Amino acid sequence: MQSDSETQPTPEPNIKSEPTQEQGKATQIIHNRRHKDNFGSPYSPVYNTTTYRFPDTASLQEVIEGRAPGNLYTRWGTNPSIQELEQGLAGLEGAEDGLAFASGMAAISASLFAHGRNGIVCVGDLYGGTQELLTKHLEPLGIPVTFLLRHEPAQLASALNKPGMLVYCESPANPTLSILNIRALAQQSHAKGALLAVDNTFASPVNQRPLSLGADLSLHSASKFLGGHSDITAGAVMASAERIKPIALWRKNLGQILAPETAALLSRSLRTLPVRVRQHNENALAVARAMESHPAIKRVLYPGLPEFPGHSLAAQQMDGFGGVLTIEIKGGREQAIKVADSLQVFLLATSLGGVESLVSQPCATSHHGISREERERRGITDSMLRLSVGLEDAKDLIADLQQALSQL
Ligand code: PLP
Repeated sequence: MQSDSETQPTPEPNIKSEPTQEQGKATQIIHNRRHKDNFGSPYSPVYNTTTYRFPDTASLQEVIEGRAPGNLYTRWGTNPSIQELEQGLAGLEGAEDGLAFASGMAAISASLFAHGRNGIVCVGDLYGGTQELLTKHLEPLGIPVTFLLRHEPAQLASALNKPGMLVYCESPANPTLSILNIRALAQQSHAKGALLAVDNTFASPVNQRPLSLGADLSLHSASKFLGGHSDITAGAVMASAERIKPIALWRKNLGQILAPETAALLSRSLRTLPVRVRQHNENALAVARAMESHPAIKRVLYPGLPEFPGHSLAAQQMDGFGGVLTIEIKGGREQAIKVADSLQVFLLATSLGGVESLVSQPCATSHHGISREERERRGITDSMLRLSVGLEDAKDLIADLQQALSQL
């Protein structure tokens, strides 16, 4: 064991200035640090604690009554590792504030409870789990929910029939990748006294920042691109401090906080997010282009393809087109299963956004919980395969798809 003098903390050497708003997002997230230690580590330690001790009852009371800053209990969100993550997430989205959660569904449910109680109008396609939450839980609790297949201004205007409602959407949406005009939706929602929430999971903050387009809440399943390695389950919401406050109360009382260790792991993932997402974008575009002309494929849904209906809108509001695409195989369910089962490099697994490529059949996974009629109404067919394009060499992914398609 070393002597005490060798292990004692020394004042942190050569501390340079904090990241600034003028710096690029990659610089900011790599240097995002909220809490300094005195050992000179470039990154913060993990505060693996549920509670915090106080010198006396008077100081505890000052904190619990909000008269002094301080940490009290991790479930409340007052944990340095979680707060540092939230500061990083908010910076990536250009948001005033952010909250981290134990899962994407935790972030979505707390946000809907906090801001959707006067009624929720969903526009476009949604992740099946969100749809299930809305129809099986929120509607039975008496929260009015309306589903609009696309953004038709007249329909949205009549659905927003009282003030204080919430418009909710995904763009690009799961699994059709359909694109909505976020700026137009925000303007129309605000004109009717409603807020706009956008699930930004498929884009990631690198490719799209909904708040800068006028949205009020930007939500994420951090289990996808933010985590990026298929080993973290987490969620996030970014917004103004005013909008975040009521969501934080729901998080606290529903007990949806994530573990400090998970928060620290997610902070580590965020440092490589910009470079990972750029490579996901490049690989997905290469795969989409290669699949477009394949004789066994009916359609390729990817916002980066000029033929895709939402392409020009996506090019305006996004900085990149993302790492997910959907292919529709000629034939039906059996042909799609044959292709999925023949893939060797793509893993047959639900989820997306990891370094490894995944294939899944939306009707059997992400959209299994919604009825066949509803899937058909939304154009989600049994012959669709959703590809999450990872960071392998694009040529190997294309060769894998070609060999699987040749089995038909
Ligand atoms: N939003 C989208 C677009 C998703 O694809 C998912 C999960 O697949 C979720 C939200 C839910 O996230 P989580 O699984 O982290 O709860």
